[in-house]
Amino acid sequence: MKSLSAVLTKPKKFELIELDLPDLKKDQVLLKVISCGICSTEHDAYYGKLIGSPGVSFRYKKYPALLGHEVVGHVMEVGSDINQFKIGDCVTGLTYSGCGFSEYFIENADMLVKIDTSDLKQQIVSLGEPLMATCNIINQIGINSGDTIVIIGDGYMSQLLLSGLSRYTLKHLVVVGHHDSRLEMALNFGATSVINSKNSDAWKKLMELTNNIGFDVSVEYAGNADSLRLAASVCKAKKRAKLVLAASYSEKMEFSIANYLQNRAPIIIPGYPNQSDNKIRDLEQGMLGLQKGIFPMEKLITHRYKLEDIQQGFEDSINRAEGYIKGIITPN
Ligand SMILES: [Zn+2]
Repeated sequence: MKSLSAVLTKPKKFELIELDLPDLKKDQVLLKVISCGICSTEHDAYYGKLIGSPGVSFRYKKYPALLGHEVVGHVMEVGSDINQFKIGDCVTGLTYSGCGFSEYFIENADMLVKIDTSDLKQQIVSLGEPLMATCNIINQIGINSGDTIVIIGDGYMSQLLLSGLSRYTLKHLVVVGHHDSRLEMALNFGATSVINSKNSDAWKKLMELTNNIGFDVSVEYAGNADSLRLAASVCKAKKRAKLVLAASYSEKMEFSIANYLQNRAPIIIPGYPNQSDNKIRDLEQGMLGLQKGIFPMEKLITHRYKLEDIQQGFEDSINRAEGYIKGIITPN
């Protein structure tokens, strides 16, 4: 079977190519893709930085590289062993098996969950993978009532995490960013306060907020040297504060955070999906949160693109086009 797919054929260049899909195995499901999220973790791949590097995912081994891992789709066909899904079901999940920016997609059934709505508008925004990543972080933090938490970064993943954390009885839930519109959004999603690091001294403000003690949990979600330094420097000292590293780091770091690690001595928690001890549990929690209205996916998905406009989608995502929070590709 053929599937029209947007694959990366060289740095910053997507092309539409008909890929041959392999035969469906007995434990797999064939999906007609409704949507696939553009993920900022793929920016480096888009620039060609990762392609062919040792140890990368098979999708990045060579050109054409297969991007797109946040798939929502309708079940078109099921393998002979499958009884948990039927044709027509809408599913999402940990869709790392191929190119998500495609008309059709094959995934192992044990990586998928059903989306519990028949409303196409809701189905289209039900991206399981980022929700799983968010619930993984929440689970890994191990939150206590009264905790103080700061999230550095005001992008899509920060806003999802914030929305999940806002359901807990926290003393402070602060977001640091540098876009006024996104920070306003963060206040609507439950931040107790926000700081624009462009026009104020974020470190000073964060320390003031906590009476110079610092935070129980500091989540680094911006992915640059300054944000990493800020996140490490506001951890409560010598109290087993948790420093969560969740961003993609591609910049060369020209400073050391060793001093903060020695003196503040936080526990470092890597907040990446593969750190999860049970991704399917996290995925199911994410879908439950979506159903309960905890994760405001519809407000966060600001841009939609056809398969042929994927290039524009990546450019908008990288350049943070006006009003852009998260984009999806809708191939069918
Ligand atoms: Zn992603």
